Amino acid sequence: MKICSLTAFVVPIALRRPVRHASHVRHHNDTLIVRCRLDTGHTGWGEGLPRPYVTGETIETAVQHVQQTSWHGLADSFQDPQEASDMLDEFVLADVSAPPEVVPRACFGNSVRCAVELAVLDAACQAAGCSVGEFICRLPEAAGIVRRQKEVFYSGVITSETPGRQRLSAFKMKLFGFAQLKVKVGTAGQDDRRCLRSVRRIVGKNVDLRLDANEAWQPQDVVSRMEPLLPFAPSCLEQPVPHAAVAELADIRSSLAVPVMLDESLCCQEDAEAAIRQNTCDLFNLRLSKCGGIRRSVRLAATAGQAGLGWQLGSQVGETGILSAAGRHFACNIDRIRYLEGSYDRFLVRERLTQEDLTFTRRGRAERIDRPGLGITVPDDRVQNLAEQTLEML
Ligand SMILES: [Mg+2]
Repeated sequence: MKICSLTAFVVPIALRRPVRHASHVRHHNDTLIVRCRLDTGHTGWGEGLPRPYVTGETIETAVQHVQQTSWHGLADSFQDPQEASDMLDEFVLADVSAPPEVVPRACFGNSVRCAVELAVLDAACQAAGCSVGEFICRLPEAAGIVRRQKEVFYSGVITSETPGRQRLSAFKMKLFGFAQLKVKVGTAGQDDRRCLRSVRRIVGKNVDLRLDANEAWQPQDVVSRMEPLLPFAPSCLEQPVPHAAVAELADIRSSLAVPVMLDESLCCQEDAEAAIRQNTCDLFNLRLSKCGGIRRSVRLAATAGQAGLGWQLGSQVGETGILSAAGRHFACNIDRIRYLEGSYDRFLVRERLTQEDLTFTRRGRAERIDRPGLGITVPDDRVQNLAEQTLEML
């Protein structure tokens, strides 16, 4: 089989309400959607969400990557999804310059890599009659971390809002029955201690609470910022300091009674190796778009496992059903995911793009997908009607 056409669409995806955290407020996403058609007649879909504060990408640089890369390197035929994945793995994007405020890392371009990988894998797995989950289980780098699960449980997230709205969120999440909740901290003007105290009081002592500071704190302040929050038993602290200061976490961690997770500082293999070498964390936050797709994320999980570290599968705010499905395949087939985020579709986005509704149900529960490919149906006209830009790649 071979790819006969590859098309990118820039699609604005409106969120149901603005989403805030320490470093950003978001009303809609500029989403990169990729469609892959094979000569077998199968069509696959992929999605990437460029984020300047994570991989340094904007929708403009993603479009430049799409326009300037010579995609003819993907025109060779392949036998099966594994061969298609090998081809993608070796494929190199054009050398696009990063925005001036960004120090580019190897992850620059990862949202484009993710969108293309998902589209090709979706189509190739359909043609091979297997699900993307089955493909994941057969990846050589997944050896030792495969576990097939029928169902998984997602976390709730309490974002930065007024104290009243945060309490309301906590009530809703308790009623919904989540076992794990993430609370965003570090937003200017917000009293984290007060927030955490009321969230803990509302959800009770058995819910696992973790924190995400989204780079808000300076290294010298991390311990003192955390001290008033410790009585509420957070199980993990995500990305307390800016990426530029991440090496300083090595010293801070010994005075901190909570495991540290890297997110903005963990986007590619180089980041993972630096984190292990410098001893800056206990856990990686893997997000498919940020990490360049499924295979690279599986490799990062394997790297974490070999170093004795843990990992979670995270998501970007406002993913459509395409990334939700990809995340589900990862979550239902990769072992030891400490926390799981994503599949917020109906709660967060106005247009999920897929016919299937992949939103989790009570307790954050969601089922395995066993259909071929990603197991989703994306109406072509829905994407074309919403697209602001359409770019033929191949
Ligand atoms: Mg985070």
